[in-house]
Amino acid sequence: MLYDKLIFELSKKGRIGHDINVTTNNLKSSLPQHFLREEELLLPEVSELDVVRHYTNISLKNFNIEKGFYPLGSCTMKYNPKINEKIASLDGFVSLHPLTPESASQGALELLYETDVILSEITGMSKFSLAPFAGAHGELTGLMIIKKYHELNQDFKRTKIIVPDSAHGTNPATATVVGFDVVEVKSNLDGTVNIEALKELLSDEIAGIMLTNPNTLGIFERDILEMSKLIHDIGGLLYYDGANLNPLLGKAKPGLMGFDIIHLNVHKTFSTPHGGGGPGAGPVGVVESLKEFLPGPVVKYENNRYQFATPKHSIGRLGKFYGNFSVIIKTNSYIKTLGRDGLKKVGPLAVLNANYIKESLKDDYLLTVEGVCMHEVVFDGLKDKSSGIKTLDVAKRLLDFNVHPPTVYFPLVVSEAMMIEPTETESKETLDNYIEILKTIAEEAKTTPEIVKNAPYKTPVRRLDEAMAARQPKLKFKDL
Ligand SMILES: *Cc1c(COP(=O)(O)O)cnc(C)c1O
Repeated sequence: MLYDKLIFELSKKGRIGHDINVTTNNLKSSLPQHFLREEELLLPEVSELDVVRHYTNISLKNFNIEKGFYPLGSCTMKYNPKINEKIASLDGFVSLHPLTPESASQGALELLYETDVILSEITGMSKFSLAPFAGAHGELTGLMIIKKYHELNQDFKRTKIIVPDSAHGTNPATATVVGFDVVEVKSNLDGTVNIEALKELLSDEIAGIMLTNPNTLGIFERDILEMSKLIHDIGGLLYYDGANLNPLLGKAKPGLMGFDIIHLNVHKTFSTPHGGGGPGAGPVGVVESLKEFLPGPVVKYENNRYQFATPKHSIGRLGKFYGNFSVIIKTNSYIKTLGRDGLKKVGPLAVLNANYIKESLKDDYLLTVEGVCMHEVVFDGLKDKSSGIKTLDVAKRLLDFNVHPPTVYFPLVVSEAMMIEPTETESKETLDNYIEILKTIAEEAKTTPEIVKNAPYKTPVRRLDEAMAARQPKLKFKDL
C-alpha cells in the first residue's frame, strides 16, 4: 500500500503541505542570531493529503477498544464513554491556566474536591490526594506515606514490606525504590495468600503489606479481615493496590477490609483511554489517621470556598501542579453519568461476564482455580497440552480473528497464564464470539497445530523478534 510507506519514503522534493513562510520570516527577524538553524532541517516533503492518508492508514493498523474486544486482564479495558471527552474539553477546563488564582478557579477546585469525596465514599477512605499520575505512582506515594508514618513514630527498624508472589511487578519494584526490603509471601493453590506463611513472616520489622483484592488471579481474599488484624497487631499498615476495584464497585469497600492506604487506577476503573502509556491518574486515599501524610496539594472546603492545602506531615509534592486534571474530570464524569444505581451494577456485571467466559471455556482451557472468580479469569493455557501449542501461540492466532488477546504470562505464578477480563461493558454476543474463536483455536491445536504455531497471518507484520526489538530498537528512519 502506498500510504503504508514511511513518511520519508513519500517525500518529493518541493512538495509542500503548508505554507508557513510568513510566520517563519517574522520569527527569523525577531530571534537572536545564535538561535537560528544553520543547516536546512531534514523534513519529509509531502502534501497535506499525503500526511492525512499516511496517519489515517497507520492508525487503522492499531488495535483499540473501539475497534474490537480487548479483554486484557488486570487492565480493565472498558468502553470509554464519549461524554467524558466532551466534558473534559469544555472551554472552562481546557483554557484554565494552572496558575490561575483559587478565587478565579473555584469550579475546577470544586470538581477536585467533589471527586475526592465521591472516591472516599466508594472506597470507605477518609481523604484522597488526586496528584499521583498513575497506579504505580500511587504505590510510590503510599509507600512513602508508610515510611514517613513509621519514621515519625521513631520506629526505624521497620524495613520490610510483604508482597504476595502473585503481585503485579510494580508492587515489589515500588517497595524497593522507596528503600524497603521485599519479603514474598506464598499463595495457596487457589491463589489467595497463605495465612500460615504470612504468620511466619510477621515481626516488628514489618512496615506493611501490599495487597490486590481480588488478587491477580481474580480471586477474592476471603481471609482479608484476619490478615488485616494480623498486620495491624504487629504495628504494620495495609496498602491496597486498587487496579482490581472494578468488581467491588457497589459491593464492598477496601476501607472496611482494614486497608489504610489505597490507590485507584481511575483510568481503568473509571474509564479513560489507556494502554500505550497513558495518560492516567492514581489517586491515593487514606484512613483518617493518615490524612496529614498525603502529598500536597489537597483540596479543602472552608469559609465557603475551595482551597488548596498542604497536609501537616505531607510526604511533599509528586509533580508540578495538581496531577492529571483531565483524567480526574473524566473520572468524575463517568461516575456521575452512571449515578449511584448505575455504579452498583458495574461490579456484578463485570463478575458475571468473567464467569460466563470461565464456564464456557473450561473444557478447552485449563482452569487455574475452580469455583466463582471475580472480574477476570486465569487459564493455564490449553487443557490438552499434547500438541505443544503454547499460550503465546494462542494469543498470536487470536489476532487473525480481529480480537485482542488476553494478558499472557501474568501472573507469574501460572506458567502458561491467559488472563481474560471482559469488563461490564461488553454484550453477550461479543463474549460468545470470543468464546467461539477460542474454541476454534483449541480445535485447530488438535487437528492442525502448525496453523496456530505460525500465526498470525492477517496482521501488517507477522511474529516479531520481541527480544531484539527491545534490545536494538530502530528509532529513526535510516541514518539521516
Ligand atoms: C495496572 C496495574 C498496576 C499499575 O498501574 P499503572 O496505572 O499502569 O501505573 C499495578 N497493579 C496492578 C495489579 C495493575 O493491574
